[in-house]
Amino acid sequence: MPILSVIELRKTYGDIIAVDNISFNVAKNEIVGLLGPNGAGKTTTINMILGVLEPDSGGITIDGLDIFSRRSQAVSRTNFSASYTPLPGNLTVLQNLMIFGRLYSVKNLSKRIEELLIYFDLAKFRNTKCGLLSSGEQTRVSLAKSILNSPHLLLLDEPTASLDPATASEVRLKIKEFVAKGEGGVLWTSHNMYEVEEICGRVLFLSHGKILLEGNPKTLPQEYGKKTLEELFITVAREPLTLREN
Ligand code: ATP
Repeated sequence: MPILSVIELRKTYGDIIAVDNISFNVAKNEIVGLLGPNGAGKTTTINMILGVLEPDSGGITIDGLDIFSRRSQAVSRTNFSASYTPLPGNLTVLQNLMIFGRLYSVKNLSKRIEELLIYFDLAKFRNTKCGLLSSGEQTRVSLAKSILNSPHLLLLDEPTASLDPATASEVRLKIKEFVAKGEGGVLWTSHNMYEVEEICGRVLFLSHGKILLEGNPKTLPQEYGKKTLEELFITVAREPLTLREN
């Protein structure tokens, strides 16, 4: 059974079709890249999976649980991090992790937090208010929060956007480890094609709310006569119709 199943999902805003009947799965131990140009529908898709946006139609299950009828069970197996949603800045790192850990009913919470503070090199900031941290440090706190409850489904919306190359590389390694060792699957959005090629086993290219292409990021460019994933991305953004004809 897939960790995440998205079935014919659709969302409109007035005349804008943000997400147009898309279907896909994420399996256990898999990192799937959700790619596409600005406005393609990635964040709208993620927000529907998180249950914060209601779709016009379609279904979503997490571990086989329908997120609309069994929301609390489905949500307890999910977590999320995005560069545009920092944790409350007036709370310290420790306070934030404590609060989210309690919300998720994490067992042996203090021990789990100590492990994560070390894992994400945050121990020295435990009593610092999150709002005083640099954006890269805040991202690491948000990532620690995102795996607090050992989620089965981890949604990461541009998780490395504010990180320097060395820290971004460490974060990718940690997320790879999380996926390889545990029960989780990840849906990852990024505009960094080098990163996507390194971390994602499979990618979905969204264009105007539809899934235009799907496959292994290492082989997909050649299948469409492109040298690199970046070149393929640019074609998806500028000339999507030429790819449909391929
Ligand atoms: P980006 O890479 O820029 O973050 P995205 O792929 O995440 O883009 P979405 O934010 O999902 O794209 O937006 C999809 C489409 O829906 C866009 O055309 C956007 O303008 C529109 N849209 C998103 N949210 C709203 C809203 N609340 N009201 C109206 N239109 C919206």
